[in-house]
Amino acid sequence: MKFIIKHFSIMTLLTLMMSVNLFPQIYTTTKVDGRVKELLSKMTLEEKVGQMTQVTIQAVSKTQGTKFQMHQIDDAKLEDAIKNYHIGSIINVYDAAHSVEYWHEIITKIQNIATKETRLGIPVLYGIDAIHGATYTKGSTLFPQAISMAATWNTDIAKQSGEITSFETKASGISWNFYPVMDLGRQPLWSRLWETFGEDVYLASQMGSSYIKGAQGNDIGAPDKLATCLKHYVGYSFPINGLDRTPAWISERILREYFLPTFEAGILAGAPTVMVNSAEVDGIPGHANYHLLTEILRNELNFKGLVVSDWEDIIRLHTRDKVAETPKEAVRIAVMAGIDMSMVPYDFSFYNYLLELTKEGTVPMWRIDEAVSRILAVKMQLGIFENPYPNKELLKKFGSEDFTNANLNAARESIILTKNENNILPLSKTLKVLVTGPTANMLSVMNSGWTITWQGNEESLYPTEKNTVLEAIQNKIGTGNVNYVEGCSFDKDINRDRAVSEAKYFDVIVVCLGEPAYCETPGNIFDLTLNQAQLELANSMIKTGKPVILVMLEGRARLITDIEPKAKGILIGFLPGMEGGNAIADVLFGDVNPSGKLPITYPRNPNGITLYDYKPIEKFDTNNYDPLWPFGYGLSYTTFDYVNLRASSSEITTNDELIVSIDVKNTGNKAGKEVVQLYLTDLYGSVTRPNKQLKGFEKILLNPGETKTVTFKINKEHLSFIGQEKKRIIEPGEFKISIANHTTTFSLK
Ligand code: BGC
Repeated sequence: MKFIIKHFSIMTLLTLMMSVNLFPQIYTTTKVDGRVKELLSKMTLEEKVGQMTQVTIQAVSKTQGTKFQMHQIDDAKLEDAIKNYHIGSIINVYDAAHSVEYWHEIITKIQNIATKETRLGIPVLYGIDAIHGATYTKGSTLFPQAISMAATWNTDIAKQSGEITSFETKASGISWNFYPVMDLGRQPLWSRLWETFGEDVYLASQMGSSYIKGAQGNDIGAPDKLATCLKHYVGYSFPINGLDRTPAWISERILREYFLPTFEAGILAGAPTVMVNSAEVDGIPGHANYHLLTEILRNELNFKGLVVSDWEDIIRLHTRDKVAETPKEAVRIAVMAGIDMSMVPYDFSFYNYLLELTKEGTVPMWRIDEAVSRILAVKMQLGIFENPYPNKELLKKFGSEDFTNANLNAARESIILTKNENNILPLSKTLKVLVTGPTANMLSVMNSGWTITWQGNEESLYPTEKNTVLEAIQNKIGTGNVNYVEGCSFDKDINRDRAVSEAKYFDVIVVCLGEPAYCETPGNIFDLTLNQAQLELANSMIKTGKPVILVMLEGRARLITDIEPKAKGILIGFLPGMEGGNAIADVLFGDVNPSGKLPITYPRNPNGITLYDYKPIEKFDTNNYDPLWPFGYGLSYTTFDYVNLRASSSEITTNDELIVSIDVKNTGNKAGKEVVQLYLTDLYGSVTRPNKQLKGFEKILLNPGETKTVTFKINKEHLSFIGQEKKRIIEPGEFKISIANHTTTFSLK
């Protein structure tokens, strides 16, 4: 076989691959360049190093904001930080969501000092983790988390969630969002899996880019737009032991094949900022990795924006990773690796060390100027030099009904039906329903981390007007037809016996299981199996002989292999957000036809986990891909027939485009949405080729009896991969296309 026939740039590849509209990198206009240069020329070294310093709001606060106490800024500390340390950025909340009015007060206070009481009047860039909506603003629209967003396989929904999140974050006066997470969710244990758009490069790239497009529009300076941040560059999501912030063993070829492309897609979509991997790849901490941060991100991917560290991670190069003998050396390593701004975040040590390092000449002035230019450029593009204050006009639509409806629609499309024995679902609204399980009557289990608080587990702070699964079921069929017995907590029996004895009075049992809210390292687990107390509750309910419907609310696929065969119906809800309860009740009782598809492989066993795009050797001899449900899987209350898969040719050259079409018919008696998924298999290659890879998808709505033709375009970029030389290549040969249970082949000459 003839090998490498062409090298081409990754950026070209992605431009062509992505069907979403692309924006140029928006911070490189010459107008901004000129303004940046002019301002830079007036700045002292202290002012420059200050711009590179980011602190948490805790560092300038008097009191924490909790249920019992009002947050208060410490005016003296804030003035010190801005006037004496010239800080460029402040982040986060201390400790729970504020009202939008209080945010206005805080931001106005900060910007008054920065723009009116400093020599150059440079505004502060406020950043926040508004990851599934304006996380830290009371009454905001909190969408399904990314894993559920990916389960919709609907890029319009991802885009709309970006638009609304931007709107409400901006309405709070905040113009920098540390989102989207472009890490690939390929480590099932990882506590941040739910922050990702799942295991597949193409799906995650599409969903992430659509989100950015919605969040930023064409102009991040527009009143309702903001700057997004791609995180956590790169390889953070694949810790070998599954624990957050632990080493990833990723070769450069694999990194380029799986973990870089989503970031490349985000850069192409116009994200002006990037946050760094908090852990390490190949023995090199993310924050010390010159090759990844400069050689690849800057020189290859041509990223022009600002790179911010993650939380305290420059300090940790010394205290945790031990690659720097002193904290000062840690600052030098990180800045010279390519980090422009340090999320210090509690003190001014970074400022002091960097000042010393620059004065000594250990960090060259060009590097400081480069970093500060990038920071100023983002601030200018955001328009905060002209208007650093919150825009009161936006309050009119904040938390509006329109936004809630969009959220409900997203939640509905995210619910995945994975089992429906004898069409037990949808349930009739005349049935009497027993509801049990630890996730039945909590909102936090549908929202998880980054909801009102960091861990998202302060149930008492959740909005009382939103419905849990139980409340939504009660609303749907009447409180008199529903009984609730908790059964167990997440890990202990409470009153399982009572649930069992109640069962005889009911027609069907809805057992809601899953995980409590968590985020980052506090969410670490050592076993994917669902807790025993929950499995026992499910088994006991199954033994009553009444039909059991399982509802799973969880951030990662907890193993339910033991109970799956015995349940009659199963809904995987993952984290469907504030409207999740309503969405689940809508699906249970047939007001919504489920259309979610798994964005990850749902494993059957705790070990030997294989993902859908496995290599030939993973299904060879005694090896197998045998998950509980595969990636892309999800049932509907109607049926779809796929016919007439056709390709425009059986042979193409690298200059051709192959047009692939298929007709999809709704053969059932309910309208329904179907995700048509195109997979490609490269039959032979100079490196082992995946069993199949997603290269196109489209979600379509079909009325009963209706047929639609779905068309995909395949070009050389879809056929490419990272070869032995760690470069993207294409090789001639045979390829197979699969859509549903149809296949066709073609050859590349
Ligand atoms: C997380 C980031 C987050 C940052 C600021 C870190 O601990 O890893 O994802 O953006 O905190 O809150």
